[in-house]
Amino acid sequence: MVNKAAWEEIHKELDAKSVTLVAVSKTKPVSDIKELYNLGQRDFGENYVQELTEKQLQLPADIRWHYIGHLQTNKVKAIAPFVHLIHAVDSFKLLAEINKQALKNNRVINVLLQMHIADEETKFGMDEKEITTLLENVGKESLQNVHICGLMGIATNTDNERQVQAEFSRLHTFFRQLAGSFFRDKAYFSICSIGMSADYKIAIREGGNMVRIGSLLFGVRL
Ligand SMILES: *Cc1c(COP(=O)(O)O)cnc(C)c1O
Repeated sequence: MVNKAAWEEIHKELDAKSVTLVAVSKTKPVSDIKELYNLGQRDFGENYVQELTEKQLQLPADIRWHYIGHLQTNKVKAIAPFVHLIHAVDSFKLLAEINKQALKNNRVINVLLQMHIADEETKFGMDEKEITTLLENVGKESLQNVHICGLMGIATNTDNERQVQAEFSRLHTFFRQLAGSFFRDKAYFSICSIGMSADYKIAIREGGNMVRIGSLLFGVRL
């Protein structure tokens, strides 16, 4: 069930700080998305390709769809015509495929690079060194149809606020370094996508300007 009061409150809080709210609607029905759409929400996040493409067909064209999950190279084609921002790019191979599919669709696709900040082995993403290497490779090729707009990260799932804060801080520090080096003349490198339902307040304090919130808005996923 959609929590409209929670949306009003979070939306107001984030708007005042110029933080973009991505409403994470994975596993939730189209009717739930419509409810938030009618309140004014336009950015929605999904992490399964098939679910996203099915929902996109049934919902208004002015929704900005964020793909927040781990993306397989062979699935890029399905979302390339319409996706607004791909959050979790973690290899050069994936980036090159996004560029190829963007070119076929005659558009530029915005992406974020996923940085691994959690102390959990299972989560995807790259460390500082891997991101630097990827960006050096991007500099050698010319990927005209992708814009790398920033970084995305997922903190460790823990009650230890200091740890979460330190992880977000590490991402934001590296984000600022990159903005001053690889992206000096690229104004579009401007997004730090950190923070979910449990830790978005910490993320904003640490410099996050895009948060991905699901359960606070749509209720817990079963
Ligand atoms: C599911 C998901 C979210 C939202 O999680 P909540 O805890 O429900 O807010 C955010 N980011 C990613 C990458 C997700 O997969």
